[in-house]
Amino acid sequence: MPYCTECGGTLKWDTKLRQYSCQSCGLTFTEAQLSKALDTLYTNDDDEDEKKRQRNRDYLDWWTSSKKKK
Ligand SMILES: [Zn+2]
Repeated sequence: MPYCTECGGTLKWDTKLRQYSCQSCGLTFTEAQLSKALDTLYTNDDDEDEKKRQRNRDYLDWWTSSKKKK
């Protein structure tokens, strides 16, 4: 059962709207919106990108310093 990304309330599938609606705050989510919102909640892309950038910087530092030594 999906939960509301805003308040954590229970989402109920509304067959008329063809959307999930929150039982607590009344927000509605399409399936696409919900899966996108859940992706944003559970994967921290910024953090992963920052790690990659840091690795690239480290590698570049190592590469330039090893070049200088030769
Ligand atoms: Zn809600």
